[in-house]
Formats: sequence, C-alpha cells, structure tokens
Amino acid sequence: MSAKQFDVVVIGGGPGGYIAAIRAAQLGFNVACIDEWKNPKGGPAPGGTCTNVGCIPSKALLQSSEHFEHAGHAFADHGIQVQGLGLDLGKMLGRKDNVVKQNNDGILYLFKKNKVSFFHGRGSFVKAGDGGYEIKVAGGSEETIAGKHVIVATGSNARSLKGAEFDEKNILSNDGALRIGAVPKKLALIGSGVIGLEMGSVWRRLGAEVTVLEALPTFLGAVDEQIAKEALKVFTKQGLKIELGVKVGEIKSSDAGVQVAYTDAKGGEQSLQVDKLIVSIGRVPNTIGLAADAVGLKLDERGAIEVDGDCKTNLPNVWAIGDVVRGPMLAHKAEEEGVAVAERIAGQHGHVNFNTIPWVIYTSPEIAWVGQTEQQLKASGRAYKAGSFPFLANGRARALGDTTGMVKFLADAATDEILGVHMIGPQVSELISEAVVAMEFKASAEDIARICHAHPSLSEATKEAALAIDKRTLNF
Ligand SMILES: Cc1cc2nc3c(=O)[nH]c(=O)nc-3n(C[C@H](O)[C@H](O)[C@H](O)COP(=O)(O)OP(=O)(O)OC[C@H]3O[C@@H](n4cnc5c(N)ncnc54)[C@H](O)[C@@H]3O)c2cc1C
Repeated sequence: MSAKQFDVVVIGGGPGGYIAAIRAAQLGFNVACIDEWKNPKGGPAPGGTCTNVGCIPSKALLQSSEHFEHAGHAFADHGIQVQGLGLDLGKMLGRKDNVVKQNNDGILYLFKKNKVSFFHGRGSFVKAGDGGYEIKVAGGSEETIAGKHVIVATGSNARSLKGAEFDEKNILSNDGALRIGAVPKKLALIGSGVIGLEMGSVWRRLGAEVTVLEALPTFLGAVDEQIAKEALKVFTKQGLKIELGVKVGEIKSSDAGVQVAYTDAKGGEQSLQVDKLIVSIGRVPNTIGLAADAVGLKLDERGAIEVDGDCKTNLPNVWAIGDVVRGPMLAHKAEEEGVAVAERIAGQHGHVNFNTIPWVIYTSPEIAWVGQTEQQLKASGRAYKAGSFPFLANGRARALGDTTGMVKFLADAATDEILGVHMIGPQVSELISEAVVAMEFKASAEDIARICHAHPSLSEATKEAALAIDKRTLNF
C-alpha cells in the first residue's frame, strides 16, 4: 500500500475515539484519529457529540440556568437580596460555546502531547489490503491512510420524529436546543428521557413554560421506581408540566411556532401551541459516510455495528465502540470501551464492567444510580434488603438549603452484597462514585456503613442509607 501506514486508525474523535487513540498511543502504537466535526469557523472540533452538542454544553447551560434560578429564588433564604436581576442570554450561550472550545482545544493538545496524528475530515473504508485497511479522509484533510487495526467510534445522531423533521429553528434536536436565541415563552418537549429533562430544566429555569409529552405510561422507566416517583413530584412542583401516556399526532410548524396535536392518557384530543418544540426520543447509531459495505462491516437490525463482548466486529482487526454499538449511550461507557480495545490490541486484558456503569441525570435535584433497581430485583426473584436515608436529615444538606431527595441502598438479603444504589438530591452525580467503587470491589452495605465519612458532608447520607439496610440509621 502506498498510503501512510499506522498501527491503529480511529474513525471518530468523540469520547470513545479520542480516548482510544490516546490509550493506544500510550501503549506505543503509531496512531491516527480522524474526526469530521467542524467548529463554527470550519476548523476541527474533536470531542464528538459529548463535547460539542451533548454532555459539556448541556452542563454549562444547566449550571448557568441554576445560578439564575438561585439568584431569583434561593438567595433570599440565605439573606441575600438581589435587585435588578437580569438575563443576558447571549453571554450565557457565549460562555457555553467557550467551554466547548476549551474542551476541543484540550483534545487537540492531548493528541499532540501523545503524538496521535489527527486528520480533520470524514473517514471511509476503501478496501482491505495486505497491511490492514485503507481509509480515505475527505472534506478537510484529503488523503488516504492505512491502519493495521481500525477502531470505529462514529457515535450517534438524534432520532427524528416522522413528519416533524428537525429544522433547528422551530423543531429542535439537542443541537438546536442548546442554542435557542431567545427564551421561548412556551416550549414543548417530546420525550422525557435524560436529554429531554435536562434541556427542559434549562429553559424552564430561564423562564419558559415547559410541557413534556411522554408516550410511555411511566416516568423514567429505567430509574428505580421510588426515585422516579420522587422526581416526578419534585419536577412537577418546580413547574414542569409532564404528561405521560400520550400519543403524539400531527405537528405543524409555521412562523407563529409549532402546533402539536396529541391524544392524552384519558383519550382526549389535545392541541398545544408553542414557540419551540424539542424532540428527544432517543438516538440512532451513526454509520453515515463510513462506507461499511466497502469492506463488508456488519451492522445489526438497528443500524449499529455488530460487536461481541470485546468490541470485535465481524472483520479481523476492526473494532467498534461507544454509541455506534450496543449498550448504554453514555460518554464514560464509550471511554471505557476505548481504553479496553486499545489494551486488547496490545495483547492485554482490557475490561469493561457493564454492571457498574453509573447513570446520572443532571437536573436539579440530580438523579444518579448504579446497579439494579428494586423493580429489576423483584422481577428476577432475588431476595434483597432495602434501606434509604433522606437528605432532609443530613446536616450539610440543611446548611446548603437543599434537602430534597434521598439515598437508597439495595443489598443481597443473605450476603449483604450491594446490588444497587439509587440517589436523588444535591450533588449526587459526585456521590454516586463511592457506590461505584464499592460495587466494583463487591462491598457489602455494612462495609460502607463502617467507613468513616466526613462530617458535615452529603456523603454521610450514603453511609446512613447503608446503615438503614439493617435498620440502624443514627440520624433518622
Ligand atoms: C444533550 C446530550 C447530553 C448528554 N449528556 C451526557 C452526559 O451528561 N453524560 C454522558 O455520559 N453522556 C451524555 N450524553 C451522551 C454522550 O454524548 C454520548 O454517549 C457520547 O458522546 C458517545 O461517544 P462516542 O465517542 O461513541 O460518539 P460521539 O460523541 O457521537 O462522537 C463521534 C464522532 O465521530 C465523528 N464521525 C462520525 N462519522 C465519522 C466519519 N465517518 N469520519 C470521521 N468522523 C466521523 C462525529 O463527527 C463525532 O465527532 C449526552 C448526549 C446528548 C445529546
């Protein structure tokens, strides 16, 4: 082959791809990473969905909008008077864009530091040859490179609703939802998953009247029922209008906004007129432009790249990771798979434990969990014990002025092994790590109950919930 030869070529520079490239380079391989994402000036913007239109910008706006809400409502309780509170949405969105750029630049720096060759453009398979696979890069850098190993990490795209395709003006995906130029008076969301709830929270805090339309009869079906029930109560109290069990009908978009016809849970015909509509009904694996056919790379019925438990595809030395394969669509899952695949290429025993992948919803209160829910344990017939502790009884939460929610432990009835930990409350996105570590080390609830936790800290609620398993909480 005359093409420039690499040991490993990674297609896609999202959290899966860029981390795989860095780990492979650390292991001594000559690595290339191809990514096509463009910044507003047409330059490279590695980091994928997560950095550009996902995890990072959503958290930037969640933080800004939470500050705004606190200044308007929560500060008064602390004796802080705010007069003339105003919103400079342009500045808020600009700050978010700046946070994104810092992350894009950080990844380009990491590529340089680790001697990963970066190619800006779309990578597509050309053919399999003696030295591996030929891959054409187009739309930025124009050249053909070859890799002995190829890691596909091309991510996912927002799923659109038939008859209401995204125009990013009135009908918005996560991309458009992160850059609405003026706070809409009325906003509707179709889909009450993680992304929908986070986006809805941002715009509600900034002043929009938000209605969430969910087809399923249950709220947050993947979340532990007790936690989901609490979340529904709190979000409703905050002003989110959540309608479950609806059937969305015709959607008409015009200069006046969007009209959404739907049938409510009782069978009543409803019509909702809003300024903007966010559709967040899931994501589809992205293999557009990859030319999977050119080399016979197998996809499954969902359009995801078919892989085994080790992320091996049907082709020798071609691997796939992250949102483009089975499993939860989470940035940290993609990263773990990236590290594991790089280590497997190096002959090591890369490992991803799917049972201890944490989930977080960054609403306020935050929701976080790891392991099995109570309804899953019931369905599996496993005997378990449950214990919970409310933040209402936690000194640090009282001092913060944020006592909503609880920590809940589920442990095996006989061995006391922790089977699941579920949280709703302040900063639980950070607290969940302790539960992940505990489960990774196969800890018992009593292990956590016997560990000294700093006082006053929110983490004491974790210890107390572990104590609650044996009905011996000390502060409740
Ligand atoms: C609004 C929102 C909020 C989210 N918040 C969170 C969160 O808080 N925590 C969390 O864990 N997850 C979150 N996610 C999910 C997370 O973003 C994804 O799970 C993660 O980005 C998947 O990483 P990936 O590397 O598989 O793919 P992506 O991040 O999608 O990256 C794929 C990259 O490949 C590039 N690409 C595709 N095809 C080609 C090609 N042929 N050639 C070259 N480049 C190509 C794309 O341009 C992209 O840059 C969120 C998602 C959204 C939409």
